[in-house]
Amino acid sequence: MRKCTFCFARSRIGRSADTKKSRHMSLENIHKVMDFLEKTNDCQLRLLGGEPTLHPEFNRIVKEGLERNFHVHIFSNCMMPDRVVNYLKTLPDKDVSILANVSAQESDTREMKERVERTLEQLGEKITVGITVPSPQFEYKFLFDMINKYKLRRRIRVGIAQPIVGTSNEFLRPSMYREVGTAIVKMALDSYAQDILIGFDCGLTLCMFSEMEIGTLAKKSEGFTMLCDPIIDIGPELDVWNCFPLSEVLNTKLDMFKTINEITAFYNKRLRPYRDFGCMVECASCVHLKHGICKGGCLAHAINSFNKLPPRTVDAI
Ligand code: SF4
Ligand code: SF4
Repeated sequence: MRKCTFCFARSRIGRSADTKKSRHMSLENIHKVMDFLEKTNDCQLRLLGGEPTLHPEFNRIVKEGLERNFHVHIFSNCMMPDRVVNYLKTLPDKDVSILANVSAQESDTREMKERVERTLEQLGEKITVGITVPSPQFEYKFLFDMINKYKLRRRIRVGIAQPIVGTSNEFLRPSMYREVGTAIVKMALDSYAQDILIGFDCGLTLCMFSEMEIGTLAKKSEGFTMLCDPIIDIGPELDVWNCFPLSEVLNTKLDMFKTINEITAFYNKRLRPYRDFGCMVECASCVHLKHGICKGGCLAHAINSFNKLPPRTVDAI
Protein backbone atom coordinates (compact mmCIF):
# COMPACT_ATOMS: atom_id res chain seq x y z
CA MET A 1 0.00 0.00 0.00
CA ARG A 2 1.15 3.56 -0.74
CA LYS A 3 2.21 5.73 2.19
CA CYS A 4 2.24 9.44 1.42
CA THR A 5 4.50 11.42 3.74
CA PHE A 6 1.89 14.08 4.41
CA CYS A 7 -1.09 11.73 4.71
CA PHE A 8 -3.65 12.64 7.35
CA ALA A 9 -5.40 9.30 7.25
CA ARG A 10 -2.56 6.88 7.67
CA SER A 11 -2.19 7.33 11.42
CA ARG A 12 -5.84 7.24 12.25
CA ILE A 13 -7.89 4.94 10.11
CA GLY A 14 -8.00 1.37 11.24
CA ARG A 15 -7.96 2.26 14.91
CA SER A 16 -10.85 3.12 17.17
CA ALA A 17 -10.62 5.50 20.11
CA ASP A 18 -10.63 2.59 22.54
CA THR A 19 -7.79 0.93 20.58
CA LYS A 20 -9.95 -1.95 19.34
CA LYS A 21 -8.30 -2.99 16.09
CA SER A 22 -10.52 -2.70 13.05
CA ARG A 23 -9.26 -1.84 9.60
CA HIS A 24 -12.57 -1.69 7.79
CA MET A 25 -15.91 -0.32 8.88
CA SER A 26 -18.40 -3.17 9.22
CA LEU A 27 -21.52 -3.18 7.04
CA GLU A 28 -23.58 -2.86 10.19
CA ASN A 29 -21.78 0.37 11.11
CA ILE A 30 -21.96 1.65 7.54
CA HIS A 31 -25.73 1.19 7.69
CA LYS A 32 -25.80 3.14 10.95
CA VAL A 33 -23.89 5.98 9.27
CA MET A 34 -26.27 5.98 6.31
CA ASP A 35 -29.25 6.04 8.71
CA PHE A 36 -27.67 8.96 10.55
CA LEU A 37 -27.02 10.91 7.34
CA GLU A 38 -30.58 10.26 6.15
CA LYS A 39 -31.95 11.57 9.45
CA THR A 40 -29.82 14.66 8.96
CA ASN A 41 -31.00 15.12 5.37
CA ASP A 42 -27.39 14.94 4.24
CA CYS A 43 -27.48 13.81 0.63
CA GLN A 44 -23.76 13.06 0.25
CA LEU A 45 -22.01 9.86 1.30
CA ARG A 46 -18.28 10.58 1.44
CA LEU A 47 -16.07 7.50 1.44
CA LEU A 48 -12.46 7.93 2.48
CA GLY A 49 -9.69 6.00 4.21
CA GLY A 50 -6.78 5.08 3.94
CA GLU A 51 -7.82 3.89 0.52
CA PRO A 52 -11.58 3.22 0.75
CA THR A 53 -11.75 1.13 -2.41
CA LEU A 54 -9.75 -1.59 -0.61
CA HIS A 55 -12.78 -2.28 1.60
CA PRO A 56 -13.85 -5.84 0.65
CA GLU A 57 -17.49 -4.70 0.38
CA PHE A 58 -16.76 -1.44 -1.38
CA ASN A 59 -18.98 -2.03 -4.42
CA ARG A 60 -21.89 -3.10 -2.20
CA ILE A 61 -21.48 0.06 -0.07
CA VAL A 62 -21.60 2.28 -3.15
CA LYS A 63 -24.62 0.38 -4.51
CA GLU A 64 -26.51 0.70 -1.23
CA GLY A 65 -25.60 4.38 -0.98
CA LEU A 66 -27.01 5.01 -4.44
CA GLU A 67 -30.16 3.03 -3.65
CA ARG A 68 -30.68 5.37 -0.71
CA ASN A 69 -30.29 8.34 -3.09
CA PHE A 70 -26.95 9.58 -1.76
CA HIS A 71 -24.47 11.14 -4.11
CA VAL A 72 -21.36 9.04 -3.47
CA HIS A 73 -18.10 10.95 -3.26
CA ILE A 74 -14.93 8.89 -3.08
CA PHE A 75 -11.49 10.09 -1.94
CA SER A 76 -8.97 7.81 -3.58
CA ASN A 77 -5.35 7.45 -4.65
CA CYS A 78 -6.77 5.73 -7.77
CA MET A 79 -4.86 2.51 -7.12
CA MET A 80 -8.21 0.77 -7.15
CA PRO A 81 -8.82 -2.95 -7.58
CA ASP A 82 -10.14 -3.79 -11.06
CA ARG A 83 -13.49 -5.01 -9.69
CA VAL A 84 -14.06 -1.51 -8.26
CA VAL A 85 -13.03 0.31 -11.44
CA ASN A 86 -15.25 -1.95 -13.53
CA TYR A 87 -18.23 -1.33 -11.27
CA LEU A 88 -17.78 2.45 -10.95
CA LYS A 89 -17.50 2.68 -14.71
CA THR A 90 -21.09 1.45 -15.07
CA LEU A 91 -22.48 4.27 -12.88
CA PRO A 92 -23.69 7.67 -14.13
CA ASP A 93 -21.21 10.53 -13.63
CA LYS A 94 -23.87 12.59 -11.83
CA ASP A 95 -24.22 9.93 -9.06
CA VAL A 96 -20.57 9.25 -8.27
CA SER A 97 -17.58 11.54 -8.10
CA ILE A 98 -13.98 10.84 -7.20
CA LEU A 99 -11.37 13.16 -5.78
CA ALA A 100 -8.06 11.62 -6.76
CA ASN A 101 -4.96 12.56 -4.81
CA VAL A 102 -2.31 11.96 -7.43
CA SER A 103 0.61 13.72 -5.74
CA ALA A 104 3.64 11.87 -7.04
CA GLN A 105 5.52 9.87 -4.40
CA GLU A 106 9.08 8.79 -4.99
CA SER A 107 8.27 5.37 -3.59
CA ASP A 108 5.52 4.71 -6.16
CA THR A 109 6.43 1.62 -8.20
CA ARG A 110 5.86 1.24 -11.92
CA GLU A 111 2.96 -1.11 -11.16
CA MET A 112 1.34 1.50 -8.90
CA LYS A 113 1.66 4.15 -11.61
CA GLU A 114 0.15 1.83 -14.20
CA ARG A 115 -2.77 1.06 -11.90
CA VAL A 116 -3.46 4.78 -11.46
CA GLU A 117 -3.35 5.32 -15.21
CA ARG A 118 -5.78 2.45 -15.74
CA THR A 119 -8.24 3.98 -13.29
CA LEU A 120 -7.96 7.45 -14.84
CA GLU A 121 -8.48 6.03 -18.29
CA GLN A 122 -11.61 4.10 -17.29
CA LEU A 123 -13.28 6.65 -15.02
CA GLY A 124 -12.39 9.91 -16.83
CA GLU A 125 -15.12 12.49 -16.19
CA LYS A 126 -15.91 11.17 -12.71
CA ILE A 127 -12.46 12.19 -11.52
CA THR A 128 -11.21 15.50 -10.21
CA VAL A 129 -7.49 15.45 -9.47
CA GLY A 130 -6.10 17.01 -6.34
CA ILE A 131 -2.67 17.74 -4.94
CA THR A 132 -1.40 18.39 -1.46
CA VAL A 133 1.31 21.03 -1.33
CA PRO A 134 4.18 20.08 1.01
CA SER A 135 6.66 22.83 0.03
CA PRO A 136 6.93 25.97 -2.16
CA GLN A 137 8.51 23.95 -4.99
CA PHE A 138 5.71 21.68 -6.04
CA GLU A 139 4.99 20.09 -9.39
CA TYR A 140 1.62 20.55 -11.04
CA LYS A 141 2.07 20.64 -14.81
CA PHE A 142 1.91 16.84 -15.01
CA LEU A 143 -1.74 17.24 -13.98
CA PHE A 144 -2.52 19.13 -17.22
CA ASP A 145 -1.24 16.17 -19.24
CA MET A 146 -3.28 13.78 -17.10
CA ILE A 147 -6.47 15.83 -17.45
CA ASN A 148 -6.07 16.16 -21.21
CA LYS A 149 -4.99 12.59 -21.84
CA TYR A 150 -7.71 10.90 -19.76
CA LYS A 151 -10.43 13.55 -20.25
CA LEU A 152 -10.81 14.18 -16.52
CA ARG A 153 -12.86 17.07 -15.09
CA ARG A 154 -11.10 20.32 -15.85
CA ARG A 155 -10.66 21.13 -12.17
CA ILE A 156 -7.76 20.70 -9.74
CA ARG A 157 -8.23 20.62 -5.97
CA VAL A 158 -5.34 22.20 -4.07
CA GLY A 159 -4.68 21.61 -0.39
CA ILE A 160 -1.73 22.41 1.80
CA ALA A 161 -0.12 19.71 3.93
CA GLN A 162 -1.32 20.26 7.49
CA PRO A 163 0.15 18.85 10.71
CA ILE A 164 -1.65 15.99 12.41
CA VAL A 165 -1.96 16.94 16.07
CA GLY A 166 0.09 14.67 18.31
CA THR A 167 2.02 12.98 15.48
CA SER A 168 5.01 13.84 13.32
CA ASN A 169 3.89 13.89 9.69
CA GLU A 170 5.46 16.12 7.06
CA PHE A 171 3.60 19.40 6.75
CA LEU A 172 4.02 22.85 5.29
CA ARG A 173 5.46 25.33 7.81
CA PRO A 174 3.47 28.58 8.07
CA SER A 175 6.77 30.46 7.56
CA MET A 176 6.60 29.20 3.95
CA TYR A 177 2.97 30.13 3.36
CA ARG A 178 3.71 33.44 1.62
CA GLU A 179 6.06 31.77 -0.84
CA VAL A 180 3.55 28.98 -1.44
CA GLY A 181 0.81 31.57 -2.00
CA THR A 182 2.70 33.07 -4.92
CA ALA A 183 3.38 29.61 -6.34
CA ILE A 184 -0.35 28.76 -6.09
CA VAL A 185 -1.28 31.93 -7.98
CA LYS A 186 1.17 30.98 -10.72
CA MET A 187 -0.46 27.56 -10.84
CA ALA A 188 -3.92 29.19 -11.08
CA LEU A 189 -2.79 31.27 -14.06
CA ASP A 190 -1.12 28.32 -15.81
CA SER A 191 -4.23 26.21 -15.20
CA TYR A 192 -6.56 28.93 -16.45
CA ALA A 193 -4.54 29.13 -19.65
CA GLN A 194 -5.33 25.41 -20.12
CA ASP A 195 -9.03 26.02 -19.46
CA ILE A 196 -8.69 24.38 -16.04
CA LEU A 197 -9.81 25.95 -12.75
CA ILE A 198 -8.17 25.26 -9.42
CA GLY A 199 -10.19 25.16 -6.19
CA PHE A 200 -9.08 25.08 -2.58
CA ASP A 201 -9.26 22.89 0.49
CA CYS A 202 -9.55 24.37 3.97
CA GLY A 203 -6.75 26.02 5.92
CA LEU A 204 -5.52 28.76 3.56
CA THR A 205 -4.76 32.13 5.15
CA LEU A 206 -5.20 35.72 4.04
CA CYS A 207 -1.54 36.66 4.36
CA MET A 208 -0.45 33.86 2.02
CA PHE A 209 -1.38 36.23 -0.81
CA SER A 210 -0.98 39.88 -1.76
CA GLU A 211 -4.15 41.84 -2.54
CA MET A 212 -3.34 41.63 -6.22
CA GLU A 213 -2.90 37.85 -5.97
CA ILE A 214 -6.27 37.51 -4.20
CA GLY A 215 -7.81 39.48 -7.09
CA THR A 216 -6.21 37.10 -9.56
CA LEU A 217 -7.57 34.07 -7.68
CA ALA A 218 -11.04 35.65 -7.62
CA LYS A 219 -11.06 35.78 -11.41
CA LYS A 220 -8.90 32.83 -12.38
CA SER A 221 -9.83 30.07 -9.93
CA GLU A 222 -12.97 28.60 -8.35
CA GLY A 223 -12.59 31.39 -5.79
CA PHE A 224 -10.30 32.08 -2.88
CA THR A 225 -11.57 30.60 0.42
CA MET A 226 -10.16 30.45 3.93
CA LEU A 227 -12.39 27.80 5.46
CA CYS A 228 -11.83 26.03 8.75
CA ASP A 229 -15.15 24.42 9.63
CA PRO A 230 -15.60 20.95 11.10
CA ILE A 231 -15.54 18.40 8.29
CA ILE A 232 -16.57 15.54 10.61
CA ASP A 233 -15.06 12.15 9.96
CA ILE A 234 -16.52 8.91 11.24
CA GLY A 235 -14.14 6.01 11.91
CA PRO A 236 -14.70 2.25 11.58
CA GLU A 237 -15.93 1.92 15.18
CA LEU A 238 -18.17 4.99 14.81
CA ASP A 239 -15.70 7.27 16.55
CA VAL A 240 -16.17 10.86 15.43
CA TRP A 241 -13.57 13.61 15.07
CA ASN A 242 -13.44 17.14 13.72
CA CYS A 243 -11.21 16.47 10.69
CA PHE A 244 -8.13 14.33 9.99
CA PRO A 245 -5.50 16.74 11.32
CA LEU A 246 -7.41 16.66 14.63
CA SER A 247 -8.13 12.96 14.53
CA GLU A 248 -5.93 12.13 17.53
CA VAL A 249 -7.79 14.46 19.89
CA LEU A 250 -11.33 15.14 21.12
CA ASN A 251 -12.83 11.96 19.68
CA THR A 252 -16.46 11.34 20.47
CA LYS A 253 -18.99 8.70 19.43
CA LEU A 254 -21.61 9.00 16.73
CA ASP A 255 -24.40 7.70 18.96
CA MET A 256 -23.98 10.67 21.28
CA PHE A 257 -25.53 12.93 18.63
CA LYS A 258 -28.77 13.13 16.69
CA THR A 259 -27.62 15.14 13.66
CA ILE A 260 -24.48 16.33 11.88
CA ASN A 261 -25.39 19.88 12.90
CA GLU A 262 -25.16 18.83 16.55
CA ILE A 263 -21.69 17.39 15.95
CA THR A 264 -20.58 20.53 14.14
CA ALA A 265 -21.88 22.74 16.96
CA PHE A 266 -20.09 20.56 19.50
CA TYR A 267 -16.72 20.86 17.76
CA ASN A 268 -17.12 24.57 17.09
CA LYS A 269 -17.65 25.09 20.80
CA ARG A 270 -14.82 22.79 21.95
CA LEU A 271 -12.31 24.31 19.52
CA ARG A 272 -13.35 27.93 19.99
CA PRO A 273 -10.53 28.70 22.52
CA TYR A 274 -7.84 27.79 19.95
CA ARG A 275 -9.22 30.16 17.32
CA ASP A 276 -7.62 33.16 19.06
CA PHE A 277 -4.11 31.83 18.44
CA GLY A 278 -3.91 31.09 14.72
CA CYS A 279 -1.10 29.26 12.99
CA MET A 280 1.66 31.84 13.70
CA VAL A 281 2.63 34.13 16.56
CA GLU A 282 1.60 37.13 14.43
CA CYS A 283 -2.00 35.90 14.39
CA ALA A 284 -2.69 36.72 18.05
CA SER A 285 -2.44 40.44 17.31
CA CYS A 286 -3.70 40.36 13.72
CA VAL A 287 -6.58 42.67 12.87
CA HIS A 288 -7.86 40.21 10.24
CA LEU A 289 -8.26 37.51 12.88
CA LYS A 290 -9.96 39.99 15.18
CA HIS A 291 -12.44 40.93 12.45
CA GLY A 292 -13.00 37.28 11.54
CA ILE A 293 -11.81 37.90 7.97
CA CYS A 294 -9.01 35.34 8.34
CA LYS A 295 -9.48 32.24 10.49
CA GLY A 296 -5.77 31.99 11.21
CA GLY A 297 -5.19 28.82 9.19
CA CYS A 298 -5.49 25.24 10.32
CA LEU A 299 -6.29 24.77 14.00
CA ALA A 300 -3.81 21.90 14.16
CA HIS A 301 -0.99 24.49 14.29
CA ALA A 302 -2.58 26.34 17.20
CA ILE A 303 -3.28 23.14 19.14
CA ASN A 304 0.27 21.86 18.56
CA SER A 305 1.71 25.11 19.94
CA PHE A 306 0.48 24.21 23.43
CA ASN A 307 2.50 22.02 25.80
CA LYS A 308 -0.56 20.00 26.66
CA LEU A 309 -2.78 18.52 23.98
CA PRO A 310 -6.55 18.20 24.40
CA PRO A 311 -7.72 14.77 25.60
CA ARG A 312 -7.98 11.95 23.12
CA THR A 313 -11.64 11.24 23.88
CA VAL A 314 -14.37 13.43 25.31
CA ASP A 315 -18.03 13.14 26.19
CA ALA A 316 -20.30 15.07 23.88
CA ILE A 317 -21.82 17.26 26.58
S1 SF4 B 1 -4.73 35.81 11.21
FE1 SF4 B 1 -2.67 34.99 11.01
S2 SF4 B 1 -2.74 33.85 9.11
FE2 SF4 B 1 -4.49 35.22 9.07
S3 SF4 B 1 -3.81 37.07 8.04
FE3 SF4 B 1 -3.47 37.39 10.22
S4 SF4 B 1 -1.35 36.74 10.57
FE4 SF4 B 1 -2.00 35.89 8.58
S1 SF4 C 1 -8.54 22.26 11.57
FE1 SF4 C 1 -9.70 23.48 10.09
S2 SF4 C 1 -8.27 23.97 8.44
FE2 SF4 C 1 -7.37 22.31 9.64
S3 SF4 C 1 -8.03 20.50 8.49
FE3 SF4 C 1 -9.49 20.82 10.15
S4 SF4 C 1 -11.13 22.00 9.23
FE4 SF4 C 1 -9.37 22.12 7.85
